[in-house]
Amino acid sequence: MKSVDAHLADILEGVEPLPPLHMGLLETIGCVLAEDVVSAVDLPPFDNSSMDGYAVVVADVAGASTGSPVLLPVVGEIAAGSSFTPTVAPGTTVRIMTGAPVPAGAQAVIPQEWTDRGVRDVAISRKPEAGANIRRCGEDVHAGDVVLTRGTTIGPTQIGLLAAVGRARILVHPQPRVVVFSTGSELVEPGEPLGAGQIHDSNSYLLTAAVRELGAIAYRVAALPDDPSRLLGEIEDQLVRADVVLTSGGVSVGAHDVVKEVLSRSGTVEFVTVAMQPGKPQGQGTIGPQRTPIITLPGNPVSAFVSYEVFVRPLLRRLAGAISLHRPTVAAVLTEELRSPAGKRQFMRATLIIKDGNYVVRPVGGPGSHLLGALSQANALIVVPEEVTAVPAGYAVTVMVLDNPRS
Ligand code: AMP
Ligand code: MG
Repeated sequence: MKSVDAHLADILEGVEPLPPLHMGLLETIGCVLAEDVVSAVDLPPFDNSSMDGYAVVVADVAGASTGSPVLLPVVGEIAAGSSFTPTVAPGTTVRIMTGAPVPAGAQAVIPQEWTDRGVRDVAISRKPEAGANIRRCGEDVHAGDVVLTRGTTIGPTQIGLLAAVGRARILVHPQPRVVVFSTGSELVEPGEPLGAGQIHDSNSYLLTAAVRELGAIAYRVAALPDDPSRLLGEIEDQLVRADVVLTSGGVSVGAHDVVKEVLSRSGTVEFVTVAMQPGKPQGQGTIGPQRTPIITLPGNPVSAFVSYEVFVRPLLRRLAGAISLHRPTVAAVLTEELRSPAGKRQFMRATLIIKDGNYVVRPVGGPGSHLLGALSQANALIVVPEEVTAVPAGYAVTVMVLDNPRS
């Protein structure tokens, strides 16, 4: 049997991030930056007011108090976006709105709450500090600053910054495109009635959803029957839009395990038994003239899901240019004893909660790899190392976090 680590290493061997492309700002969400972004501008780009109020010369209002307000003539008004900027000469004031450029001569902005909000003349009843309520040019970002570094994953706040510095197109690693097949003559589309011996195809939906949740692009192909004469052609037809091909089913030792039967002949896909539970039968390699990576997952839904987490997700993260490939893990206290087969790494579905500030983890569902009901309750996988065969309740285990712990 091949170890989990050796199989993953073979899958990642020689895989590089997809070549960078310039993409429109909103298309880059979730992508990894392939350039250091240097700002061409200062932020703010000009001194501007942080309040609605009155721009003044500080000495003019030094004596202002509630008891004896200072009266100044209002010689103009500046709104945000205004290009007309009157000068504030000593003994005058200009009404100014939030975001408007601070006029020449002004040393502070008096918030309108400190005034009678006058239009022709204004009575000011408090004195400001010099520079009060002025947001200075460049105090956030200087032109020439590296504002985001290569390798950063772009989220909403990064998009906001890129927009603020005026960038419409960004050099990023594109998200990988994944074609998802399921195989099995028993499979029927959800929504269609089941005949004798048939089940609904859940794997292609689960895997497509997992790929999309990661931010990658998934194309789901309707289930293929166990027909060796069709399989290769159907896969090859999809290669134009695939950075990765993912199949499920047909990789164990049965008479109709056509994925293994057909792809073994190609010589570029290796079929192995991996020392893990669930997910023992696995295949990986390349297909087609571009040597597109292909991973053939086992058909049992829980096995397919766990194998996706362990082998496919890191591959997709690598192609997307991500630096960290793996799910976060935490140590959690086990609620009940668990047993695990010797020599295999076990990935046990579990619910992870936070109790009194500590992680606590409880296995859900039985060992069966067909148990989708219990799988849907799990937000974590307990990872039991190969050499461990039992862990008593109350001991700490390593847990792969799939979703937020509950509390
Ligand atoms: P296989 O790996 O093809 O031998 O399939 C193993 C088990 O998983 C069988 O019980 C299949 O019916 C089931 N299975 C295979 N593919 C799917 C699928 N796409 N959706 C749901 N169950 C599946
Ligand atoms: Mg099958």
